[in-house]
Amino acid sequence: MADVKIPLSVPNLTGRELEYVTSAVKAEWVSTAGPYIMDFEKAIAKYVKVPAAAACQSGTAGLHLAMMTLGIQAGEEVIVPTVTFIAAVNPVRYVGAEPVFMDCDDSLTIDVNKLRKFCTEECLFDGENLINKTSGRKISSIVVVHVFGNLADMESIMDIADTYHLKVLEDATEALGSYYMSGKYKGYFAGTIGDMGVYSFNGNKIITTGGGGMIVSHEEELVERSRFLSTQAKKDILYFVHEEIGYNYRMTNLQAALGLAQIEQLEEFIEVKKKNYEIYCSSGMKLLPFKDGIRSNYWFYSYLTKKRDGLIKYLDENGVQSRPIWKLIHTLKPYRDSQAYQIEKALWYYERVVNIPCSTNLTEREAAYVSELINDYDA
Ligand SMILES: *Cc1c(COP(=O)(O)O)cnc(C)c1O
Repeated sequence: MADVKIPLSVPNLTGRELEYVTSAVKAEWVSTAGPYIMDFEKAIAKYVKVPAAAACQSGTAGLHLAMMTLGIQAGEEVIVPTVTFIAAVNPVRYVGAEPVFMDCDDSLTIDVNKLRKFCTEECLFDGENLINKTSGRKISSIVVVHVFGNLADMESIMDIADTYHLKVLEDATEALGSYYMSGKYKGYFAGTIGDMGVYSFNGNKIITTGGGGMIVSHEEELVERSRFLSTQAKKDILYFVHEEIGYNYRMTNLQAALGLAQIEQLEEFIEVKKKNYEIYCSSGMKLLPFKDGIRSNYWFYSYLTKKRDGLIKYLDENGVQSRPIWKLIHTLKPYRDSQAYQIEKALWYYERVVNIPCSTNLTEREAAYVSELINDYDA
């Protein structure tokens, strides 16, 4: 590997991060209690317009907590996309449930036509429960992933969920800041339409706390329940009474200090991401579009190529980091035996999409350099 001169996606910590973290250290509030945690929860809740949010250790922990909070039971099935980072799917297994994999559409998010077709043709609905004819198991929920900051078709998904009594968990880990500008959910942010939503603040996400996550919902009790499970399910703080099994998933004050400084800059980050996306496009490069009728956060850019592996290698040799999209989850060892429904487009995109540098500190010159390399190689 050549030296990386232009990384794929790295943090940008040029706001008040140092000030807030220093203040947390000075106050000696570094663990899972402290004022920044609540301040950060409130800041996220206000930003995405929900009544409450619960901060946790990672997006993965958040998804696990949300699945437990929604009551997803062992032996049930959960519909998931195959185009996603694996952390959207693993928590299904953590709770003892089984995934059923769906294809994507041209936005790389779940194909709602196939989703509907699967529910009507491959399942039986008795007015209460949706039963998968293949496995005989109950399907209780759907995990929606807003891939790369694009938005899935939530209007159709919520309609299908309503018809078949399915719960909807939005994996909005990549889409903090994306919202609908038209349609039924105009003004609604990614993560706030389904029953629950989860954000991630991992180092490569649009804002970071080093590692961290946030659970949101319009139903405050669900958020409280998640927070309760994240803090060891402690019923009585003084006498340490626990009536259920809990988890040590709470965010620390240090992480939250970073997060608070980061969210102050989120709108600026989105502006930079949008501008760089447009610089790439104006060079003639073919990037997958973000949907009409939404304000995307432009988190990751997807370049379409016929020479995926060669391009990645060529960019690497020139100091530019890039990568293919994730290996499709239904083809990975832990999930090879799981049901996958008519996966076609996902395979096509898997072979062609390359994610290219998109950090918020990518300069215009760097973007121009990357596009020159790509245009030369793919000409
Ligand atoms: C990043 C990511 C997660 C997991 O978040 P972590 O904070 O890294 O645990 C889950 N799902 C998707 C789609 C992601 O991109």
